[in-house]
Amino acid sequence: MPSLGRRRANALPSDLGVCGWLESAPPLPPARRLEGTVEADCVVLGAGFTGLAAAHRLTVLRPSWRVVLIDAKRAGGGASGRSSGFVVDAASFIAAMPPAQASRVVRLSRQGIDALRTRVAEDGINCDWDERGWIHAAAGDEGCRSLASLEDWLDQSNMPYEVLDSAGMASAVGTSFYQRGIRLPGSVLVQAGALAHGLATRLPPTVTLFEESPVTSIALGNGYRLRTARGEVRASRLIVALNAWAPNLGILQQRLFPLLTFGSLTRQLTAGEQAGLGDRDTWGILAQDPMGSSVRRTADQRLLIRNEIHYDRRVRCSEDRLQAAQQGHRTALAARYPALADVPFETTWAGPMGAVPNLRPFFGRLGEGAATTGGFTGAGIAMGTALGRLTADLVCGEDSPALADALALEGPRWLPPQPFLGMGIKWRVRQMNASAGDCL
Ligand SMILES: Cc1cc2nc3c(=O)[nH]c(=O)nc-3n(C[C@H](O)[C@H](O)[C@H](O)COP(=O)(O)OP(=O)(O)OC[C@H]3O[C@@H](n4cnc5c(N)ncnc54)[C@H](O)[C@@H]3O)c2cc1C
Repeated sequence: MPSLGRRRANALPSDLGVCGWLESAPPLPPARRLEGTVEADCVVLGAGFTGLAAAHRLTVLRPSWRVVLIDAKRAGGGASGRSSGFVVDAASFIAAMPPAQASRVVRLSRQGIDALRTRVAEDGINCDWDERGWIHAAAGDEGCRSLASLEDWLDQSNMPYEVLDSAGMASAVGTSFYQRGIRLPGSVLVQAGALAHGLATRLPPTVTLFEESPVTSIALGNGYRLRTARGEVRASRLIVALNAWAPNLGILQQRLFPLLTFGSLTRQLTAGEQAGLGDRDTWGILAQDPMGSSVRRTADQRLLIRNEIHYDRRVRCSEDRLQAAQQGHRTALAARYPALADVPFETTWAGPMGAVPNLRPFFGRLGEGAATTGGFTGAGIAMGTALGRLTADLVCGEDSPALADALALEGPRWLPPQPFLGMGIKWRVRQMNASAGDCL
């Protein structure tokens, strides 16, 4: 169990680029910043999908509790609203996991999807929720090998899927770039920024959301005290949902590390440009090649490209880095859709994943009445939602088969301390970006 003593944070970098999802999502009301001292029964730190799920679940389990949810930025402004919006149950890496772990991950992810589906339907969240199924696709040898083992795994698990050969891929998504794909019925696509904003604006009234209030330290003593520049939250229970930023507060330092990845959205395509883009008006392609691009045709007829990774332990991103990422997105667009190679990108952004080398998230206690989860790498919308909800169960002392599943997850393996960790990650990231080659 990682322990929680006094923790101090470095200042958060402000600029990760403008994210088109967040820009076009229904706006949040003006931010309420933390000022003065606030008492709560439970404080949730971090208002991404994980923290939003934890805060909501607390209101169901303990309707009389005062819950504070606090974020350094706007809700969803971390990885959550910047993500590509593939709500994953059978992730690309699932077949590489030991069977018991894989079953737990799928069960938990589906609970996350169910929870999100319920919130979207009950609260009328307009986020382009689409359950028609997206495509796992392979363009290179490694991707094809990995896709074959995913197909074996789906067969063994009796999960239905539809195989698309290269001609099938071309008619589905309008490019001959891919050799093979499988469509998973029931897998979900969303506008990630709209989902995050929708969840944040529909929190029950017992949750007080403070935004633009970076927590600078956490102290133990008669409960937990979280300090910001102008205020303090005191609570007897604490849920930490910082994901990639957890190590910045000295939490899960030896378990996960931040990795930036990048997205771009084009301008809206003209009717002529949309012709020949496949048999559906929206779709998503998730690369089975480890460094391949995620590609989406969005509901408002833009193309989204996500690729490349970059390591900075403070989660900083320079303008040059964003420009280089946009160039990588242009290369990927041109390789798939030569006729659209010059369509301008309107926004390019970075987002921080909480990465773990063995792709196993952390879930567990952090101290008396405190819990945390994180390390979802590139598949955290469903998993973060599921495990965020279960952190609430954990601090409330609830018991359930789902909580048993979460506690039985094999967590991330131990990482070496800095500076060795940083040196190792930088070396590996260089290797991985270089190996992307033709699958980019
Ligand atoms: C570009 C990109 C594409 C992705 N695509 C997908 C996808 O298609 N499907 C998928 O499942 N996953 C995807 N992911 C991963 C997914 O976005 C994350 O796993 C998930 O959003 C994690 O949610 P979270 O709430 O745990 O973390 P976050 O959303 O990062 O939330 C953490 C919050 O903590 C806040 N915070 C940090 N430090 C402090 C502090 N000191 N004080 C107060 N608040 C603080 C941050 O501002 C942030 O809002 C993607 C990630 C990126 C970056």
